[in-house]
Amino acid sequence: KIEERLQWSQLDAADHVMATRLQEEIIQPHAAEIIEDFYAWLMTIDEARKVLVDDELITQLRLSQHQYLLTLGVDFANSEYFETRLRVGQAHVWVGLSLGLYQCAYRYLGQLILEHIDFQQSDAPDLIKFVNKIIALDMSLAIETYHLAQVESLEESLGNAKKQQLRLRMQARTDSLTGLANHETIMAELTEALEQSPTQKLVVAMADIDFFKNVNDTHGHLVGDKVLTEVTMRMRSGLRGVDSIGRYGGEEFMLLIYGASLEVARQVAERVRKHVEVEPINLQGLVIPITLSLGLSKARPGETAEILLARADQALYAAKSAGRNQVQILEP
Ligand code: GH3
Ligand code: MG
Ligand code: MG
Repeated sequence: KIEERLQWSQLDAADHVMATRLQEEIIQPHAAEIIEDFYAWLMTIDEARKVLVDDELITQLRLSQHQYLLTLGVDFANSEYFETRLRVGQAHVWVGLSLGLYQCAYRYLGQLILEHIDFQQSDAPDLIKFVNKIIALDMSLAIETYHLAQVESLEESLGNAKKQQLRLRMQARTDSLTGLANHETIMAELTEALEQSPTQKLVVAMADIDFFKNVNDTHGHLVGDKVLTEVTMRMRSGLRGVDSIGRYGGEEFMLLIYGASLEVARQVAERVRKHVEVEPINLQGLVIPITLSLGLSKARPGETAEILLARADQALYAAKSAGRNQVQILEP
């Protein structure tokens, strides 16, 4: 890489002599003046003034520029030379100058150096050529890291934005109280399942907490909310890993029991019901017995979610009418 870059810059062994002359005849005697002129110009630029507000920062930058000039072209074929030049770009990203201004500033620094060349000397053209080449090399390296560092920070903020987007998407898909899939999400899952494989074995269960209004009326809505969350956890623990559950609305839930015959689905639904009923919910001494009614129906090949749900609702109604705390099935 170093050799390649030297070739691009047209720098070769003969240029080391030029590097020594540049240092001895121009940089060492004139570094302070060059820096003075450079900053006088830089501070006429609005963007630079906005960034360079801190006196301490400016002092530091001037010091590092001094160091930069005193090493300009010295052993330019060494890996250390390349390394320090690459770091220059990194440092300037931290300062916050735009790449465009950065490039123009580099060009101007080259000009300030050239202005100190004695054009009466017969080999002045060689020295000019060398200054142009070494500035081009340094600039190409600094800009490369500058660009890389900018890309890195862009990637980082892009990564953060993606995470944030994922969080928001999750939020939009879940019910905030219970953490279950919300109405839209569970409906979309059902519709998609029916569309993608219209002949699959799928049983839908509508579940509704019995006499839930009483809980609110007796203990208040906050307790009602806690009961809802607890019932949700119990229902979940009764389901199989392949099944889905969503909060259809209020105290009603929709269960998708996949790959199941009505008999298997009944067993799953019974387990869910028992997990809710098994013992009263205990909220810091407040003991609240809860039961669940469920209505099941199996999907007919090619039917829509609406028709399937209507049947499951009918089954649920049957479970309520028959005394609640039970599973009813409406044959397809
Ligand atoms: P049934 O056995 O016939 O289902 O009787 P029920 O009392 O459960 O049914 P009803 O539809 O009369 O009442 C449901 C109650 O659920 C009414 C409503 O205030 C309550 N509810 C719905 N969503 C929430 C919620 O997010 N939090 C609380 N605390 N209550 C809710
Ligand atoms: Mg209800
Ligand atoms: Mg209810």
